[in-house]
Amino acid sequence: MGAVKDLGLASKATTRRLVDTFGRVATDLRVSVTDRCDLRCTYCMPEDGLDWLPEANQMTFDEIVTLVSIMTRLGVRTVRLTGGEPLMRAHLPQLVDRLTDLDLVEVSMTTNGTTLARHAQALAEAGLARVNVSLDSLVASRVREISRRDVLDRVLEGIDAAIAAGLGPVKVNCVLLRGVNDDEILDFVRFARATGCEVRFIEDMPLDADRSWTRAVVVPGGEVISRIAEEFALVERARGTHPAATYGFADGSPGTVGVISSVSEPFCESCDRLRLTSDGYLRTCLFAHEELDLLTPLRSGVAKAELAEMIADAVWQKGPGHAIGLREFEQPVRVMSRIGG
Ligand code: SAM
Ligand code: SF4
Repeated sequence: MGAVKDLGLASKATTRRLVDTFGRVATDLRVSVTDRCDLRCTYCMPEDGLDWLPEANQMTFDEIVTLVSIMTRLGVRTVRLTGGEPLMRAHLPQLVDRLTDLDLVEVSMTTNGTTLARHAQALAEAGLARVNVSLDSLVASRVREISRRDVLDRVLEGIDAAIAAGLGPVKVNCVLLRGVNDDEILDFVRFARATGCEVRFIEDMPLDADRSWTRAVVVPGGEVISRIAEEFALVERARGTHPAATYGFADGSPGTVGVISSVSEPFCESCDRLRLTSDGYLRTCLFAHEELDLLTPLRSGVAKAELAEMIADAVWQKGPGHAIGLREFEQPVRVMSRIGG
């Protein structure tokens, strides 16, 4: 067990850490800063969008910083900002700046990249370490088909700007959909080699608002790696607790490829992740049916030490993992864009 933490936030000291009954320790936090988004990716949002959460229900920057600081004292070490589209939240660099003052190893962000070119420099200056940029095709008409917006050029400019601003190595998240974009796997690999980015192929998960997910659309990570290995010799990298299995190139080329096989090879037993939704709910799993409201008690003046106890209790009760593919699997009510992927 690590050092005992005195929250120093109320009279009550706590020795709690974010450990669950399976012995997993939570150290990585995803913070959703908004549920809004400018894209409508078919596997995520309906064509007409969703009813956005009322502004009043959204955590302020002060509230985010307070909750993250409580969690850092309980052992959270890395924070990734997400959404919805995090760059739709005004003044995001100010939040980054405040988070980097906390006891964290890294603050990063996942973005769809459409406005990243405009914000990359300010984010880097505020202390953002890295970005993940989502891009599902290198063909303009396909990006339009999948995201329902014509944004390929802007996203590519965003990736360039992120690299130029020092927000690398940029990870490019590509959700593969069988019959839609899986013929572009090798093109993405060439893109990784040309840019030095890490391209990560993600299996489509049943978290879409339309509830139209089927297993048939999932392209398993194992198949992706076999298809790449026919063309390029790969060298597997050490994995640790990361969800992505990553590979370098045997010929020494820059770039990395990875697969996130959440459906075909779940990595729940090594999960070290927590999520905070933009309306202040703590989720211990993407697929959980339970979530803990932290914003209401925070707003009603509950002591920080007590909030810390509530958080530690929720983590303690974290379930073993999701059951995608099993008969008992039930998609959670909260969809991906409202959870924060
Ligand atoms: N809007 C930002 C973006 O797209 O990068 C951040 C939020 S988005 C929910 C975070 C990540 O989740 C993206 O890489 C996106 O591709 C991925 N994602 C969304 N829905 C998904 C699904 N049903 N299955 C797998 N990944 C999904
Ligand atoms: Fe928006 Fe990201 Fe969902 Fe696409 S995946 S609709 S960019 S939140």
